[in-house]
Amino acid sequence: MKRSRKIVVLCHCLLNVNAKVLGLARSPGCSQNLVKGIVDGGAGIIQLPCPEMTYLGPRRWGMTREQYDTSGYRHHCRELVLPFVSQILDYRRNGYTIERVIGIDGSPSCGVKRTCEGYAGGEWGMAGDQQQNLREVEGKGIFMEVLCGLLQEHGVAIPVDAVDENDMDGVS
Ligand code: SF4
Repeated sequence: MKRSRKIVVLCHCLLNVNAKVLGLARSPGCSQNLVKGIVDGGAGIIQLPCPEMTYLGPRRWGMTREQYDTSGYRHHCRELVLPFVSQILDYRRNGYTIERVIGIDGSPSCGVKRTCEGYAGGEWGMAGDQQQNLREVEGKGIFMEVLCGLLQEHGVAIPVDAVDENDMDGVS
């Protein structure tokens, strides 16, 4: 059978929910319906690396966009995603279609239309607890901002969609 030459780029935890902050998984392993739809449509899948897992590991707290918005984390995201941008450019130069990128709305790193803010400072449980301050705001997460910026630098326009962090099986 001939290859379709179609590719969808997925944020890491859509294929491996184990990367998420402990307690935030909404499925046992992956976003099955979303992945099945892509597979049934005949596209291949590129899985992006998880920037938070590779930065702070599986014992990290849930954090907000303000906390991740540091030069060091931006540098980490850029280093992680550059090889994937190169792949995307090479596929496109060779007649492949990158159909879309799918991120995770609500995430401080992978949000596309919505991310989260509410940094309160101090320890969990102190006055002004971060969980009470947490709110969704319009805008991209840091990792997605870096990725989209690099694609733009290279003049590459690819549709960027997202699932909701609380329903990771439905693309918005
Ligand atoms: S949303 Fe992004 S940063 Fe968060 S677990 Fe998924 S891939 Fe990692």
